[in-house]
Parts: sequence; C-alpha cells; structure tokens
Amino acid sequence: MGPIDFVLPMDGKQSIATMKVNIVGCGLSGITAAILLKDKGHSVEIFETRPHIGGNCYDLKVGNVTVHQYGSHIFHTNDEAVWNFLNRYTKFNNYIHRVRANTKEGLISIPFSRKTAEQIGRDLDPEEIQELVFRDYSERQWGIPWEELPKSISGRVPNKRDNFDDRYFTDEFQGQPINGYTAMFNAMLDDIPVQLGVGPDAWKGRKCDKLIYTGKVDAYFDYKWGRLPYRSLRFEHFKASKDNLYSFSNGAVINECNRNPYNRTMDNSVYLNEDVDETILTRDYPEEHDENNLPIYPKNFGLGAELYSGRYKKAAASEADTLFLGRLATYKYLDMWMAVKQVMVKLEGVS
Ligand code: UDP
Repeated sequence: MGPIDFVLPMDGKQSIATMKVNIVGCGLSGITAAILLKDKGHSVEIFETRPHIGGNCYDLKVGNVTVHQYGSHIFHTNDEAVWNFLNRYTKFNNYIHRVRANTKEGLISIPFSRKTAEQIGRDLDPEEIQELVFRDYSERQWGIPWEELPKSISGRVPNKRDNFDDRYFTDEFQGQPINGYTAMFNAMLDDIPVQLGVGPDAWKGRKCDKLIYTGKVDAYFDYKWGRLPYRSLRFEHFKASKDNLYSFSNGAVINECNRNPYNRTMDNSVYLNEDVDETILTRDYPEEHDENNLPIYPKNFGLGAELYSGRYKKAAASEADTLFLGRLATYKYLDMWMAVKQVMVKLEGVS
C-alpha cells in the first residue's frame, strides 16, 4: 500500500503513479468515485453484493412503468458542479416534485404554504402544523417520540412557507433522468468493471493500492463496538388503474400524516410522465434495520450518534488506505446531490 492520503490535497510536484482502487458498493457514491478516479487515470473495479447497479436509486421498467424499486428518488440540487457532472450522462426532464399529505384536514399540499391555508380555509400556526403534518409521520418513520427527533431531520421539510410555492424542493436544478436512474448509471459505468452479486467479503481478498468503501461503516469493522442503528423501509409495489384511490395528477407522492402503517404512496408513472392506463404504486413501511432488511436511514442521533462519533468515525479516519464515502459509510443522511458532492470534495486532492 502506498503512502497516498486520499483526503489531503496532493502536492502538484509529487508524481503519483497509477493506483488500483477497489470500490465497495455500486450506488451513487461508488459510481461517482469510480468515474472521478478513472478520469484521473487510475484503474478501478467495483464490488457489489446486490445483483444490480445503482444502490437504492435503482429503477426497473415493469411493463411500461419505470418503478423505483426502493421508493421515490427525486433529484434536486443548487450545486451547479453536481448538476453538470450528472448531465454528462443523462438529460433530466422538467419534473417538479409536489407532495400532498393525507391528514385529518383532508388531502393538503405540503410544505404548508399559503396555498395549503387556502385548501383548508384557514391558516395554522407552527404548533398546529407540527401536529397535522409531522408528529404521526415522524414517529412512525423513526420509531421514536416526535420530541426526540433532531431538528436536522425534521427541519428538512419546512414547517411553513409564507408564499404560494407548492414545490417540495425549491432548488434551482431539479428533474428526473429522462430514461430513469438505472439508464443514467449504465451510462456512468460505461467501461468500468463491476462485479455484481458478490459475497459481502469478496473485496477483502482482492489486491489494490486503495479502497473506497461505501457500505455500512460498522460492518467494515466487523461490528467491533456494536451495531449502529439504521432505519429501514419495506416496500410494497402493486398495480392500480390510473384513476385509482388517489388522483396523482398533481404529483407523484402522497404522504400519510396519520396512523396508517406506511409513510407514502407513490405513483411510479408520474416521474417520467409515462402514458399508461394501469400504473404501479409503491408504498414504504418503516421498520428498524436488522440483518433481514436494508439499512436506509442512519439514526445519527442519541445512542447512534454517540457510537458513531465515539468509535466508528475515529476508526474510519485512521484507516490510511480506505476512504469511506456515502450515506452508510459516513453515517450521514445525504441526499443524492450531497452524495455526489461528498465524493467530489473528498477526491479533489487526489491526482
Ligand atoms: N416529515 C414528516 N411529515 C411529512 C414529511 C416529512 O413528519 O409529511 C418528517 C419526517 O420526520 C421525515 C423528515 O421530515 O423523516 C424528512 O422528510 P423527507 O421528505 O426529506 O424524507 P425522505 O424522503 O428522505 O425519506
């Protein structure tokens, strides 16, 4: 293993030989890292335990509907460099994400805006909005009392907007890859070798100069200090006629801000404006992560935060030849654009 530090910017005078870099995980972070390293002349190879590329952004055409296999993925960013990078591989359509919530006030537009106030015929104060939109949804999603949820999570969705803007995201750049995420990842991977469906330890015996690891950070260290908590989702996909129980003409997603067991119902045909009589709806049911389901949301608060910051984060930082990237390996609730940005920043100094 060479002395190259992944994170520190390289001194331009140093001559750096081509490295062989193995990458664990073929999601957005691993694929972005592979491209950036390949662009710098390094040799890369990706190892993925699942039988497909794209991680949780993976979508699959079922009949005429492009189904987000792991729930709704909506691309948005204000970062032009990230936007330009992905636009090298796909065009994006003009999909604007609008979300409605099924509440005791009926089906309302969220985040709560002046448009929402018009829908229910009166304005609400922040505490009332918290009860109407956030409490039940969050308690189901995170499995903890609303009061324990950190602002870093609940604050992702504004409590209230003082205008009529009914977009879920207000970012400058938004849209869906015109042929879906899997097609975008296929274009990104081009001639990058990927080993799909390998065992979780397959990368361990493979020679390389450096390793990029995007799996669970606690798994990398064989759970030495115990398991980090993650929240998981179980997905249910089912056929429905286009004029199903909800009309999705105003947006792909309906949030359940009530005691239903699932978070959201999503109409997969809306993202790419697929013209179908029969669509496929997806529902996501939150549950705690264990060995039988996927780690989806790091629970980086309370005991999870203590264990990560006190143990795994330090251990990861002292692995000279491994760079940890992505939601699972850096234990951060990264949006798609943030995952790309994180890789760009961390690999900036590698020549
Ligand atoms: N949230 C909520 N009600 C909603 C939407 C979101 O309580 O209708 C809270 C909930 O705690 C959720 C967080 O806000 O986990 C972030 O929502 P976001 O839509 O960003 O969740 P994601 O799409 O990442 O699952």
